[in-house]
Amino acid sequence: MTPTLDDARGLLRRVFGHAEFRGLQGEVISEVLAGRNVLAVLPTGGGKSICYQAPAILRPGVGLVISPLIALMSDQVEALRQLGVAAARMDSGLAPGEREETWRQLAEGQLDLIYLSPEGLMQPWALERLTATPLSLIAVDEAHCVSQWGHDFRPEYRALGRLAEIFPSIPRLAVTATADARTREDIRAQLRLGDAAQFVASFARPELALFAERKQGKGRARVTQLVKARAGRSGIVYAGSRAGTEQIAEQLVAEGVAAKAYHAGLDKAVRRDRLAWFLQSDDAVMVATIAFGMGIDKPDVRFVIHADPPASIEGYWQEIGRAGRDKSMAEGVTLYSAADMAWALERISRGGASEAQAQIQARKVRQLYALFEGGACRAAAVRRYFGETEAQPCGQCDRCLHPPIGVEITQAAQKALSAVHRLGGRFGRGRLVDHLLGKTKDVRPEEATLSTFGVGKEMSEGAWRGLIDQLLFEGLLAETPNDGRPLITLADPEAVRAVYRGERRLTVLKAPASSPAAEAPASRRRKEGPDDLTPEAQGLFEALRAWRREEAARQHLPPYFIFSNDTLAQIARMRPASLADLLGVEGVGQGKLERYGEAVIGVVGGGAAR
Ligand code: ADP
Ligand code: ZN
Repeated sequence: MTPTLDDARGLLRRVFGHAEFRGLQGEVISEVLAGRNVLAVLPTGGGKSICYQAPAILRPGVGLVISPLIALMSDQVEALRQLGVAAARMDSGLAPGEREETWRQLAEGQLDLIYLSPEGLMQPWALERLTATPLSLIAVDEAHCVSQWGHDFRPEYRALGRLAEIFPSIPRLAVTATADARTREDIRAQLRLGDAAQFVASFARPELALFAERKQGKGRARVTQLVKARAGRSGIVYAGSRAGTEQIAEQLVAEGVAAKAYHAGLDKAVRRDRLAWFLQSDDAVMVATIAFGMGIDKPDVRFVIHADPPASIEGYWQEIGRAGRDKSMAEGVTLYSAADMAWALERISRGGASEAQAQIQARKVRQLYALFEGGACRAAAVRRYFGETEAQPCGQCDRCLHPPIGVEITQAAQKALSAVHRLGGRFGRGRLVDHLLGKTKDVRPEEATLSTFGVGKEMSEGAWRGLIDQLLFEGLLAETPNDGRPLITLADPEAVRAVYRGERRLTVLKAPASSPAAEAPASRRRKEGPDDLTPEAQGLFEALRAWRREEAARQHLPPYFIFSNDTLAQIARMRPASLADLLGVEGVGQGKLERYGEAVIGVVGGGAAR
């Protein structure tokens, strides 16, 4: 019999210990259970993995998961084993004996899930064995890697399109945390998903407070200041270079912060030790290049500071998104400068990518800096970038807290909007600016006689381009893909009308915006979490944490693999007296109940007796 969504809900409770599906999980799982392909975009922390793990367990056969990084795979496999799910990975890091053992388990139908990299999967011997194995589904994780429009194109992902022919009757599921509309279309085409249903969750991360400020000098002193203001919290500082990570870590250690550097140039064993140190601590600061990150889903990272800016809005959201995965309040602070932008553009032009690819990357850089420089709510701007036209201001970013003072440009904006309107949205940015300046080459009479032709000569080309970027971020203009020659069109008609009528005024920021980034983070709003426990519950929480630390050390695992802080906090609040009560706690499923139930009840009993 075909498993139903109710079966999946039962599994969610029994195995994962979660009371209900979160966001779009239920919808995605329904499609897969019905045997159909799906494209799902769920932001980091949105619970993507359950979307394929649950149907993989429920449907007959083994679920094949394709994932780009070993760290990512081993994390998920370990987390599944903790839940009592039969999962394995197949990668170059395994000893030959382990590989043989895994293939044997696969052949004997003992596995619910198997994780492979795209390169590993496309080896003839791997494909041969997998085609001989009944599969429940194929999940392509980090699916944006298949698209050159995405921010992390990986050519080896391209081969995954062939899975459509090799496994025509197996439902395929593409999941990613970051893909704009164009990237989504490309994923669909590249992976040959046909008319697969598409689910795109909101990119809202209400637990994140965002700040961005221009660097003073190199901005290194500011980094120390920001980290010290967050003492006792776990955080990640991203730097643009290996030397940068070393310098900043040294500087932080000199100030008494528990910090270490992490980058690809370090010895493998050193990296492994530092990663373990970071994962196991709840107040450590890792200073890293972006080589550090994918697959690090430490839930209690309280802040991400970009000492040097990321490469795109996708990168920004993904990197910042590593904070606050446990849904308690967290912060993202970005330091940036015009030199960083020039450097990013320079690197792209020298990078050896195809011209088309370089153009895409350069546009992503400009859009990122327009976001930093822009006056709009940071969270809302990111969400608009990903296509959420209705996003409302977050109320907690630096822009919302300290609205910038700027110079009125409503009139110029009206000219630009009206030019886009007159031109019928048929042109890209360059032609639009030429039109406003009245310098379009070989202009046709129909265009030259429009009232907007040459109406913007008082501003420079650069200023118009800046203004157009700002209008894109304000959600007044939209850029539509059009096969790689993007067209500028009017976006939200209601908002555009408000600008025409002068009801909505627009400004550019006059002076470099220096924003007071989160000087006293502890004082800000926090969601339910360990911070608002009663003193009594706090005592039990600490006792549970101590027990978790020992248990984690015994198993050589990061503590959150045992239980999350949220789960411990709930236990501390509820004081469950029996295993049945404990099962009611969010995050406690059957597998973990069997493993840890007695011990937890013991700690609760001991805590109550004190
Ligand atoms: P993603 O890969 O989308 O970043 P994960 O699949 O790793 O997210 O899930 C993020 C966190 O959310 C995990 O700690 C997971 O246990 C939790 N989670 C997922 N689904 C649910 C749910 N339905 N209810 C409660 N917690 C959930
Ligand atoms: Zn805001």
